[in-house]
Amino acid sequence: MTDSIIVQKFGGTSVGSIDRIRAVAEQVIKTKEHGHSVVVVVSAMSGETNRLQVLANQVDTLPSSRELDVLLSAGEQVSMSLLAMTLQKLGHDAVSLTGWQAGIQTDEKHAQARIIGINTDAINQQLQLGKIVIVAGFQGITEQGNISTLGRGGSDTTAVTLAGYLGAKECQIYTDVDGVYSCDPRVVTAARKLDTIGFQDMIDMAKYGAKVLHLPCVEFAEQHNLPIRVLSSFSPLQGTLVKAQESSGGVVGVALRRNLMQITSNNETIDKLVAQCNEQELEVFRVLSKDQSGVVVSQVDLAKLMQVIHEEAVHIDDVCSVSLIGRSNLSSIQALEALLAEDDIEIVSHSLCERHTMMLLAPEYLDKAANIIHDVYVDQNELLSVSKRRVS
Ligand code: ASP
Ligand code: MG
Repeated sequence: MTDSIIVQKFGGTSVGSIDRIRAVAEQVIKTKEHGHSVVVVVSAMSGETNRLQVLANQVDTLPSSRELDVLLSAGEQVSMSLLAMTLQKLGHDAVSLTGWQAGIQTDEKHAQARIIGINTDAINQQLQLGKIVIVAGFQGITEQGNISTLGRGGSDTTAVTLAGYLGAKECQIYTDVDGVYSCDPRVVTAARKLDTIGFQDMIDMAKYGAKVLHLPCVEFAEQHNLPIRVLSSFSPLQGTLVKAQESSGGVVGVALRRNLMQITSNNETIDKLVAQCNEQELEVFRVLSKDQSGVVVSQVDLAKLMQVIHEEAVHIDDVCSVSLIGRSNLSSIQALEALLAEDDIEIVSHSLCERHTMMLLAPEYLDKAANIIHDVYVDQNELLSVSKRRVS
């Protein structure tokens, strides 16, 4: 039985209306009729998590993190029960389970919880009864019995981790795009759909801004060598397979991040800030700025760091990042800077490592820089495993 379990995750737009939920139900039934046991993970209907967040902020700008998780987790309960009802109406046995009913145990970190284990007994019992099991994405239960959420986009992580614990062969993530692209196609129209991408490259893409998959889910998939197939619930195209594979040898993609803040100061102050970020488990990148030392944090993290920064002589800028993922063979960062300078784009600072190059720039230059870099480093990478089809 274990070999035939398929985990399918449907994102917010895929379950965004009753009509769409019906289309999902039909897709799930097709998989079941192929002889598989099906476990479905759903996100909240599109816009719902934001709506709940806004309600909370009308009460308090910093509401209690425990109660916020109780509230935000409600969105997934709506879509899971509607899908179960739809399947039942279509004549199939289905049951929906919340994170805690499905045995998803997390650490205590509200809003950014990590899954620490899954007791799959409840799911397996239901599968053995021949039911389609629907699990609420994005949520779990802490050891102290509180509802937790996994961070925005966390339903991917629910699905991939469940697939691992259930021994499924593959996890399918259905979303509103038909796969992983070499860059955000809304910014770079020449972006290409990748047929396959290696775990490590996908981890870097997610870490440096690609939103298509939640970072912890790719990390889990890599550790357990579990392939993830990213597919569109609106088109029958093949999608992208994320799997163990060697890097193609060149730049695989260009990842973009907005809403970052660069803090520059002397080395000593920056060391202190980095220590503070580590202590609070905030995401932080160290960068080389002109003559100074700097760190980059997200706007949200900056709010948390404000107290510490207050006392120090620091300079704060709004920035965005554009990152080349994969071995870029950049002869030097200066060559890239020169290329961008031809279009009057100035790089504020950069960080380099073997597997990626991240550059920071003022927000107004991001889209143009992304197009130039994609054109030179991705479009000309013959080694890339990409679909022939281009987005138009
Ligand atoms: N509903 C949550 C969000 O909007 C989780 C998810 O969709 O993956 O972020
Ligand atoms: Mg998502």
